[in-house]
Amino acid sequence: MIDRREDGEMIHVNGPVLRPGDAGYDEERTGFQLAERHRPQVIVRAAGPEDVRAAVAHAAAANLPVAVQATGHGVAVPAEEGVLISTRAMTGVRVDPAARTAWLEAGARWGQVIDAAARHGLAPLSGSSPHVGAVGYTLGGGLGLLARRYGYAADHVRAIELVTAGARRIRLTPDDELFPALLGGGGNFGVVTGMEIGLVPVTRLYGGGLHFPATADVLEAWRDWTATVPDELTSAIALAPMPDLPVVPAPLRGRHIAHVRIAYTGDPSVGERLVAPLRTAGPVLMDTLRELPYTESGSISNDPPFAHAYRSETAMLGRLDAATVFDLAGPGAAVPCVLQVRHLGGALAKPSPAVVGHRDAEYALYVLSVLDGHDPAAVEETHRRLVGALGGSGTFLNFHYGPATAEQVRAAYDADAWLRLTRLKAGHDPDNMFRFNHNIAPAR
Ligand SMILES: Cc1cc2nc3c(=O)[nH]c(=O)nc-3n(C[C@H](O)[C@H](O)[C@H](O)COP(=O)(O)OP(=O)(O)OC[C@H]3O[C@@H](n4cnc5c(N)ncnc54)[C@H](O)[C@@H]3O)c2cc1C
Repeated sequence: MIDRREDGEMIHVNGPVLRPGDAGYDEERTGFQLAERHRPQVIVRAAGPEDVRAAVAHAAAANLPVAVQATGHGVAVPAEEGVLISTRAMTGVRVDPAARTAWLEAGARWGQVIDAAARHGLAPLSGSSPHVGAVGYTLGGGLGLLARRYGYAADHVRAIELVTAGARRIRLTPDDELFPALLGGGGNFGVVTGMEIGLVPVTRLYGGGLHFPATADVLEAWRDWTATVPDELTSAIALAPMPDLPVVPAPLRGRHIAHVRIAYTGDPSVGERLVAPLRTAGPVLMDTLRELPYTESGSISNDPPFAHAYRSETAMLGRLDAATVFDLAGPGAAVPCVLQVRHLGGALAKPSPAVVGHRDAEYALYVLSVLDGHDPAAVEETHRRLVGALGGSGTFLNFHYGPATAEQVRAAYDADAWLRLTRLKAGHDPDNMFRFNHNIAPAR
């Protein structure tokens, strides 16, 4: 047990306590997103749920706000004060094959969960990158590779262990009023120390990517094709400028590409037939479609594994205006953009207790720019212009990287869910202790 004196207060925890200037402080606060980095008065690197409770109790006694970080992929609002609870060391994953569930500690990454589940012929509803934190992703809804077949990751949560603003450790199950609020409501209601999720019987996929030169025609062809596919097929398209570097496969180097990403859970020969019409959308520069184990599902999108600085905006859409998207976020955009559109529908449209909104949307779009020397104001302006032109009425906050406006947060939820969320926040965190997130302000 390490006790460290912090401004006259003692924090009794097993993990290290770090302040500005301490060795390890900078490393602990730095995650994947380099545009927004927490700079708190104190970091508690929690060794377990009891450390989380002690850190929240310390914050409550000193009237300090609390931020939480697992991997730093989704920092929304950086903490400039208060206590940062780092869950990085809480990485336990326990699979119950008979119940088809897994218990995840707060800092577990999808890659670990995928590997642990695969040993039992099961898979979690993970997303494009195995490096993302499973709990943070699920609290934001979780739109994954098998989404049209099984729904949002948040639809499959069975139990949650939480440390509340009052520093109480509680276990929530679907009968609890607060339970659905966490499933899409992010980290607004406390610090989740662990979560039980359902797993699905998937071991292999037909999947991978088709790469074309980026054109509005390819985007349009993908959009029209999505109207023809069954729920077992989930796909996305990304338009992105590829650097002219040796790490990029030669056919893509230095080009603006359209990358169609596919995950199909049925028979591979049927998958091949379903994808065949897409191959005529343009000249195929690279084709990585194949039968693959779910443990290699991260290769489908091939997201960058290295930390960098980025910003994005999102839109949930009923229809996709390919020409407008291409004009405003394609190769001619005012600042370089990575555009991604994911096909929704299927199980995503089914009602669920989780507060994830816009279940009737057909596409989730996000436009992202690497900050890399670009003026953040110009980036923001470019993103706003696109989202405004598309007229999408909703947002999906997991894909909103960087601070969101109050209106953008509200736009993630259906009206009745928003009312419930703001009332629950007023009841459970009236002082908004958990405010370094896509924040749901307490109802007055
Ligand atoms: C490369 C990349 C790929 C992605 N792919 C997908 C995808 O396919 N589908 C999808 O839906 N999203 C995706 N995301 C978005 C991702 O799910 C969110 O950014 C998510 O918030 C990341 O969670 P984290 O714990 O890894 O990140 P962190 O930055 O550590 O956490 C993000 C936020 O989540 C909250 N949080 C995290 N842990 C806890 C906790 N234990 N208790 C309370 N609050 C907590 C906090 O508010 C925290 O600020 C992707 C992001 C990136 C960068």
